[in-house]
Amino acid sequence: MTPTQKRWRLVGQLVAAAVALTVAWQLSSYPLPPWLLVVTAISSSLGLMEAAQRITDVVHTRTYRCPDPACDHRVTLINGGADEHRRYQEEAGAHPYHH
Ligand SMILES: [Zn+2]
Repeated sequence: MTPTQKRWRLVGQLVAAAVALTVAWQLSSYPLPPWLLVVTAISSSLGLMEAAQRITDVVHTRTYRCPDPACDHRVTLINGGADEHRRYQEEAGAHPYHH
C-alpha cells in the first residue's frame, strides 16, 4: 500500500468516525439508554469505515487481462505498488494455457 493510499484510508476512517459521532450526538437528544447510543455509534462507525475501505479498494483495484483476445484469463490486484502492478501485468499474459 502506497503512502497516498494510506492517507486516503485514514481520511475515510476519520470521516466515518465524524459521521458516527454526529449521529450519536443527534440521537442523544432523545430519551434513549446510554448503552443504545454507544452501540449505535460503534456500529455506525464500523459500517461507515467498512464502506470507506470498500470504496478505497475499488478506486485502487486494477485488473489485467491476457493479451490473447480469445482468452478470458485475468488477474486482479488491490492496493499494489508499481512493482507489483508490473509483475501482475506480466503474469496475466504469461500463464501456461490460454482458455
Ligand atoms: Zn491467455
